[in-house]
Amino acid sequence: MRPYPFQYLRAESLEHALESLAEHGEDARLLAGGQSLVPMMNLRLARPEVLIDIDRLALGEVRVAADRIHIGALARHAAVLDNAGVAAAAPVMSEAIARIGHPSIRRRGTAGGSIAHADPTAEWSALLLLLDGVVAARAKTGARRIAADDFFDSAFETALTPGEMILGLDFQLPRAPWGGAFLEFAERDGDFAIAAVAVTLGLTGARIASARVVLSGADTRPRRARAAEDLLLGQAFTGELARAAAATAVEGLDCLEDLRATAAYRRHLFEVLTADALEAAYRRTGAAPSGAAP
Ligand SMILES: Cc1cc2nc3c(=O)[nH]c(=O)nc-3n(C[C@H](O)[C@H](O)[C@H](O)COP(=O)(O)OP(=O)(O)OC[C@H]3O[C@@H](n4cnc5c(N)ncnc54)[C@H](O)[C@@H]3O)c2cc1C
Repeated sequence: MRPYPFQYLRAESLEHALESLAEHGEDARLLAGGQSLVPMMNLRLARPEVLIDIDRLALGEVRVAADRIHIGALARHAAVLDNAGVAAAAPVMSEAIARIGHPSIRRRGTAGGSIAHADPTAEWSALLLLLDGVVAARAKTGARRIAADDFFDSAFETALTPGEMILGLDFQLPRAPWGGAFLEFAERDGDFAIAAVAVTLGLTGARIASARVVLSGADTRPRRARAAEDLLLGQAFTGELARAAAATAVEGLDCLEDLRATAAYRRHLFEVLTADALEAAYRRTGAAPSGAAP
């Protein structure tokens, strides 16, 4: 199908992009990698009157420090995946990004575009919740920082207002030693996940000092399983603890039902993936295997 007619503007600078967004308001949409917006326009699910192309702005930076990672809004999925600093500091980020679509999509699509698009099972959205992410947004009238917990409203709906643009994403890494894991179940490689689970575990001595469990695909937005996180804190890791936390993560979890999976099947997937992800994350802390003599 062909999109409805639209006006195309190439932003020559950040100021130009923000000025154009302010001028055209709700009629305008930013165009980054185009991997979500263009298909939606072709299917006539999106009908912007003005497209503001930001693809050439210099917002593709990836900066890695010992305790945090900054990703510019226009960093391509593939650039993050190929970044050795990211792979060393936060293997869980590389593991998640590797599951986004296919190589051609990863070469064009951007981190900021994915977060703004807010597909309920997008890998970037899960990472934002997992690593206490903050979205740096700017409008012509000013800038603000939006915490992950406050960013996702529902499927494809975020806290961004029409004049706002994402400039970058800031991720906080757990205190070392820590390990993380991202596991997802999809019908085919490259498909959006039916269910995905992202976890981190941080240790102090033999005890769990920090824990994050994020479930994507249960409903309209990714969610932290806080009761499961609380159960893990202060405990020594065992397979039994991982299974108990997984059971807690799905207790009372309302899962959506669609052609791909029933609610009960989704809940089962979340429980299995959570237990497996916790086991993998624990192994990656570098601690002795659970149950081994100290
Ligand atoms: C076949 C296929 C499979 C895919 N599989 C997956 C998958 O498994 N997992 C996954 O996560 N994604 C998947 N995607 C989507 C892909 O990751 C997109 O790259 C991403 O969702 C959007 O990024 P983009 O840069 O292409 O944004 P665009 O398509 O250009 O824009 C998407 C939306 O974000 C807005 N936007 C873009 N940049 C900004 C910004 N800086 N500030 C504010 N708003 C902005 C746009 O106005 C638009 O509304 C798939 C896409 C396709 C076509």
